[in-house]
This record gives sequence, C-alpha cells and structure tokens, in this order.
Amino acid sequence: MGNPKAFLTIPRQEAGYRPVHDRINDYGEVEQTLNTSERKLQASRCMDCGVPFCHWACPLGNRPPEFQDALYKGKWKEAYEILSLTNDFPEFTGRVCPALCEKSCVLKLTIDAPVTIREDECAVVEAAFREGYVQPQAIERNGKRVAVIGSGPSGLSAANQLNKKGYEVTVFEKDEYIGGLLRFGIPNFKLNKAIIDRRIAVMEAEGVTFRTNTEIDVTHLPEGFDAYCICTGTPQARDLAIPGRELKGIHLAMEMLAQQNRVLAGQTFGDAERITAKGKHVLVIGGGDTGSDCIGTSHRQGALDVTQIEIMPKPPVGHNPATPWPQWPVVLKTSSSHEEGCTRRWCLNSKRFIGTEDGHVCGVEVEEVEWTPAPDGGRPVMKPTGRTEVIQADLVLLAMGFLRPQQPEFPENVFVAGDAATGASLVVRCIASGRKAASDIDQYLKR
Ligand SMILES: Cc1cc2nc3c(=O)[nH]c(=O)nc-3n(C[C@H](O)[C@H](O)[C@H](O)COP(=O)(O)OP(=O)(O)OC[C@H]3O[C@@H](n4cnc5c(N)ncnc54)[C@H](O)[C@@H]3O)c2cc1C
Ligand code: SF4
Repeated sequence: MGNPKAFLTIPRQEAGYRPVHDRINDYGEVEQTLNTSERKLQASRCMDCGVPFCHWACPLGNRPPEFQDALYKGKWKEAYEILSLTNDFPEFTGRVCPALCEKSCVLKLTIDAPVTIREDECAVVEAAFREGYVQPQAIERNGKRVAVIGSGPSGLSAANQLNKKGYEVTVFEKDEYIGGLLRFGIPNFKLNKAIIDRRIAVMEAEGVTFRTNTEIDVTHLPEGFDAYCICTGTPQARDLAIPGRELKGIHLAMEMLAQQNRVLAGQTFGDAERITAKGKHVLVIGGGDTGSDCIGTSHRQGALDVTQIEIMPKPPVGHNPATPWPQWPVVLKTSSSHEEGCTRRWCLNSKRFIGTEDGHVCGVEVEEVEWTPAPDGGRPVMKPTGRTEVIQADLVLLAMGFLRPQQPEFPENVFVAGDAATGASLVVRCIASGRKAASDIDQYLKR
C-alpha cells in the first residue's frame, strides 16, 4: 500500500459533469476526467483496509485496493493487468456502473467519502488503450466451437472468455450493431458508442466472429457448435394497460432511446416514425434509471419541460437505516439528467391517458396513493386516496422495467447468462454472469 494516511488529508474529488449549459445541447459524454496527478492522489486514498468490502460488493470480484495501489505508484500497465484479470470491459463499467463497491468502501462508512473506484477504473483502462497496452493476443485453438446468442455485455464477456480459452466463438446478434443495451439502451451521453467499437475490434482481431442482423430461434439452435450461450436479454418492456393507451404520442422508453441512438449512428427516420420531445411537454412514467435516460434524451431533443412520476414513495435522502453499510443504500438518486431539469413526483398511480380530438395524447390522469408497510414485512400495501389530477403531456414515455423472460427447457449443452437468466439487472452483473457461463461451458466441454 502506497500511502496509508492519504485518506486523512486528501478529500474525495470527483471529476464531475460538464456544466449543464455546455452539455444539454449535445450527446457527448457528460462525465469529465481528472488530470493524471489528481487521479493518482485519488487512488492514494485507498487505505487497504484489511477487510476490503469492495471485493465483496463488486459482482466481478474486482480488486480495487490492488489496482489503486498500482495507480497511485504510476504503474498504469500493472493497474490495467490487475483490473483485466477480473473485468473484461472496465471501459463499460468505468462509465456506467453504479459503483456498488464505493457504497461498501470503508471510507464510505467512516467519512462518507469513498475512494473514487469507478472513475479510477475508467482512467486505468483509458490509459491502457492510449498507451497501447490493450493488444490482440494470439490464441491457441482447442478445436471446439461455441455459439453465443446476443451481443450485450453478458454475450460479449462470455465470448471474450471462451475465445481466450481457445474455443472458436461466433456471436449471433439480431440487431444491425453489436452491444445490446450498451448500444441501444444506454444513451451516448453516458457511453460513447466508439468505446464499444474499440473493444469489438480487439475481440475480432483475437478471432471472435460477429454475425449481425441474424436472429436465432433459440428452440432451433444452429448446428455445428459444441455448446451455446443464450444472452438474449429482457426484450419485453412492462406496458401500462390503462384506458387511452392506444393514443398517439405514448411510447415504451426503449422505442425512443434506441431510435435516438440509431439517429446518432447516422440512420434517418421519417416524420411519422420519429419519436422526438422537441417542443413537447414530456411525462416519463417510471422513476428508475431508464426513466432518467429518457429525461436526458428529452432535454437534448428540445423538450419544453419534463416530469417524471413514480408509483412508489420517494426514497430517503442521503441515508436509509433499512439498508445500512456495507449494503447498497436504497436512497434518492439524482442523475446528471435530473440535474438538467425535471419535476419529480412520487406516489402517483396513472389511471387513464387523455387525448385530443385527433387521437393524440395531451395528458394523464393520476391518483395519489399511500403506502402502508405490510404486516408480514413483505411488499408495502398501496391504498388509493381518491385525490386525482391531470398532468399535461404530449409525449409520454413508459419506463416501468422489463418482464423477466421465460426460457424453454434447454439441452445440457445450452447455458443462459445475463438478463436473460436473471431479469433486468446491471452491466457489471451481466459481465460477471457471462464470465460464469463461459467457465461453466469450459467445464462442461472438458468433461
Ligand atoms: C435504458 C437503459 C439504461 C441502462 N443503463 C444502465 C447503466 O447506466 N448501468 C448499468 O449497469 N446498467 C444499465 N442498464 C442495464 C443494462 O444495460 C442491462 O442489464 C444489460 O445490458 C443486459 O445485458 P445482457 O447481455 O443480458 O442483454 P442485452 O444488453 O439486452 O443484450 C441482449 C442482446 O441479445 C440480442 N438478441 C435477443 N434475442 C436474440 C435472438 N433471438 N437472436 C439474436 N440476438 C438476439 C438483442 O438484440 C441484444 O443485442 C440499462 C438498461 C436500460 C434499458
Ligand atoms: S465494476 Fe462497478 S462495482 Fe466493480 S469495482 Fe468497478 S465500479 Fe466498482
């Protein structure tokens, strides 16, 4: 460990976001970076606490104390090598991970100022690409073939791990680009798509074959492979079956987010097809991260105003005794998109959409609800209050999560990973799940 007392004198410093007025009109990444010496100082704050809960909290089992130490000492290559032992794609998690590790950092408990693990991770991998430490490796083949269906983070990590173990890997992807929700869900202002392309180029150079525009029927898997990894995500979003759902101007969040990402990739859409918030009062139904991405996208498209409503109560601000350290704290999250301007409301149940004479949505009737704790400690019970109001909206985005897919019974050489296995989760969990599936497939094929 480099500097055992640094955490006493060096405060946590986040790089922060670009100023709102600067970022609101473009889709460039909102997060800034620190310079090299500031970054090393941040890494020096890791006090190598003896029982590093960050290892436990990170689904990948990343080793923050080890790579912080190397980073603090300016050993960037070594830091990258430590990081890439456990994480195939630190450039994705370094940008979009909610940093479960930081919430369990001992410095979070003691002074509420954890080590900037996620940002440090991103700095290390960016330096590795810049300095040429990330180079395609020659891989000895073992003569066996594996098909990966779906190219989101779980499919990519499964493919990467299997390829490194010597399997000949083909990734089948139904969309025109590789990346799954990294490509089409997460907006460019959180993850620039060139970051995905850069990694795909390394994987291709190492021998992974990618087949885009190829939808696979998972009940009739292509022949010629020794094993299969199903990484098809959670394609079905939760809808809102209330009166007026058929009105124009009501869309699932992914319809808007995916289209915007396609537009930024150069595709064009006619006026009838284009979903845009320009000049509109936008209502986002659903208080989670997907909803937050709809808010940021709406701002960039030129919305007049944005409101986000959530049926559940407002989470506690700052600290929640129900989720003490080192657990993930269930507290109010304010994203960069919220900072850009948004009215946020809770405990509102949507009753019906209201339309204009020409069949376009113009508002949503909502009812205030109250939540009472369940006597058995389970999910709280919702009680309608009868207090209703209409929220004006001419674009409504439904961001209420995704249905957990039901998988058919597969033969023993078929493995399932990522959101397809668990329901909607996080990029970091999907990378971990893809790695686990690759290890299981390897064990299976070595029997
Ligand atoms: C809007 C949004 C924002 C998010 N932001 C974050 C974030 O900031 N941080 C975070 O950690 N997580 C975030 N998530 C969650 C994260 O993106 C997902 O948990 C993760 O991408 C799931 O990975 P996956 O590999 O399981 O599946 P996906 O990423 O969903 O990829 C599945 C792929 O399989 C393909 N496919 C499906 N069926 C077939 C078939 N039959 N044949 C061929 N291909 C097929 C799909 O086209 C898709 O490309 C976000 C999710 C959304 C929706
Ligand atoms: S992947 Fe996420 S949880 Fe794991 S060390 Fe990186 S930021 Fe922390």
